[in-house]
This record gives sequence, C-alpha cells and structure tokens, in this order.
Amino acid sequence: MILGHCHPRIVASLQRATENGSSFGAPTELEITLAEMVVAAVPSIEMVRMVSSGTEATMSAIRLARGYTGRDKIIKFSGCYHGHADSLLVKAGSGAATFGVPDSPGVPKDFAQHTLTATFNDLESVKELITDHSGDVACIIVEPIAGNMGTVPPRAGFLEGLREICTNEGIILIFDEVMTGFRVAYGGAQERYGITPDMTTLGKIIGGGLPVGAFGGKREIMQQLSPSGGVYQAGTLSGNPLAMTAGIETLKLLQEDGFYSRLEEKSRALAEGIADAARRAGYPIYSTRVGSMFCAFFTNGEVHDWTSAAKCDTKSFATFFRSMLEEGIYLAPSQFETAFVSIAHSSEDIEKTIAAAFSCFKKL
Ligand code: PMP
Repeated sequence: MILGHCHPRIVASLQRATENGSSFGAPTELEITLAEMVVAAVPSIEMVRMVSSGTEATMSAIRLARGYTGRDKIIKFSGCYHGHADSLLVKAGSGAATFGVPDSPGVPKDFAQHTLTATFNDLESVKELITDHSGDVACIIVEPIAGNMGTVPPRAGFLEGLREICTNEGIILIFDEVMTGFRVAYGGAQERYGITPDMTTLGKIIGGGLPVGAFGGKREIMQQLSPSGGVYQAGTLSGNPLAMTAGIETLKLLQEDGFYSRLEEKSRALAEGIADAARRAGYPIYSTRVGSMFCAFFTNGEVHDWTSAAKCDTKSFATFFRSMLEEGIYLAPSQFETAFVSIAHSSEDIEKTIAAAFSCFKKL
C-alpha cells in the first residue's frame, strides 16, 4: 500500500466507480486507460494483459514464453517467489520458505522437472543450466530485486548478464516486477537499473489495494496471446472496473512531483535508523535497501542469495517480531519478507519504530 490505507482519493474514486457497476466480464474504458498508463511507464511493455493476481500474471507470462519459443524448460532462482502456480513452487521464497515447504507437496514431479533452479546473483549457475539444457529453455524469470527472501539487490552486472545470455540464446527474459513495479521507481526496477526485459509481470500497486495482476512485453510476443494468437488466457474478473479505478488513481498520485524522492528519504531514514539502533544495542544486523524496500537480516554475514539468507537467525527474528508487536509495530511476520515504506508513514511513525527497534534489539 504505497499510499497507505484508505487514501481519500482512492476511496472516493472507488465509491463513484461502484455505482457504475462492479463487473461486466468484458473490457471497459477503465482497463484501456490503465493499460495505456502501464505501457507509457514500463520500458519493456508495448502491450499488456490485465489479470487478477500476481500468480496469474507469472503463470500466464510463462505459458506465453513457452508458446512463443516452442520450448518447455524455465529457469527460476532459489528463494525467489513468483506466486503459487505449480511449476513455480520449486525452491520458492516468501511463505513457502518460511514454513519450510519451498517444494510444495501436490506438485507432480512431471511439472517440477521443467523448472530449473539457478542461484541469484550467480551468472555461472545460469550458464551451466543453459549448457546442460541447450535449446530447451523458454524463459528466465527473475525478481530483479529479490523481495521474497528478505531484500536482496542484484549485484552489479547480474541483470546485464541475464539480458545478454537471453539475447544470445533466444530465451525470453521475464522480470517479475509484481513487487518492484511502480515501487522502486515509476517504471520499476527496469527503469532504475536501465535493463529492459522481454516481458514483465506486475501486481500489487497497479490495483491500488484491490485484486490485480498484469503481464506485458514486446508486441511480437504479446500478439501470440489469444485472441490474436494461439496461447490461451482469459479471466472473468480481469480488468475489473474497481481494481482498474484504484490502479488509475494510484498511478496518478505516484506521478506527482517529488513523490519518489520523498519516499526514498523516508525509507532511508527508517532503514538506516533500524540498522543504527541494532548497532547501538550491540546486535549487529545486515541491512539492505533499494528505494522503499528494505530488510534487516539477522546475520553478521553479507546476504546475496538464498543460501546466505537462510543462515539468518530466524528464532531471534521471531522474538524480535513479537516484541515489536508488543510495542505496537507490526512487521512482516518472516525474516524472508521485505519491509515496504509508504508515503503515509510520518516522521513520528519512523522515530517511534526506530525507538521500539532499539529496545527490542536490546532484549535479544
Ligand atoms: N511475484 C512476486 C515477486 C511476488 O512478490 C508475489 C506476491 N508476493 C507474486 C508474484 C504473487 O502475487 P499474488 O500474491 O498476487 O498472486
């Protein structure tokens, strides 16, 4: 909720939209308006399809990448989470990692065998998989800033390297920007790092808090999607007028002058304040941040992939989480999640959080 809860302009626009009807099972002008805003904002997106969740966005983007290339294998990275489609619940992050089921029961081996897993920030691991499965890899899907194993920024050269490999091998590069889209910059991580993938998935912010997802990319690829192409995808509630309304209003507010610099400043103050509180309390942490996404890893070592993230002291994190809750601060309830700052967080909120963190670190 990049604008905080119940932003008055979002609430008012939703009230008006509800009076016009909440679902038509057909495209509306609102869907076209939001689609045009997304195309204008996100460098890789020439055409876009709305869906109702991030899961649907990644699932459909992968189907399209497979249909377009005529190849079956996909590469994902351990600790990255792309929603709960069967073939993506392989070495998954977020809740799947937190609850110890990164490879979910219920996913047939036959599905999982097409999902190859590489190491985030390690181009060699990607090259090895491609050599072993030469000509079979349809796409590489990556969170350009991993946000589902804590916050793990890409190392210099990592995204550039993926771009180069995909171009050379005819593999579709998919940036899963469900988290980072309109979050780390208006045009997402691809704008921030200047790397243009072939396809992009979106969610969260573009629905302003209502159920939403979207996937888009190069026209040539998107035209393979039904009804112009043969790769099937549809959804009764997709492009739903309420989600579209909240999305349009949110993006308009994000376009206001100085929005992202104000958000950056709040985020810097909070993330640095928490890291400093940990130091003062004698409980050093490893702190990462990109824009308004950050994480305090409960470890001394550097975190750059899932193996290093998994070394964190999750028991101490749990104790810290509970004592912060007693102080009235609700953090994401896992070490393997990102903290997001919203524009509604005030300086008092930030100071109160840092003070609470200091006393909670001291108790560890
Ligand atoms: N991709 C990423 C990067 C995500 O962070 C998430 C959800 N946290 C998803 C996909 C799935 O989105 P949803 O929960 O809307 O299905």
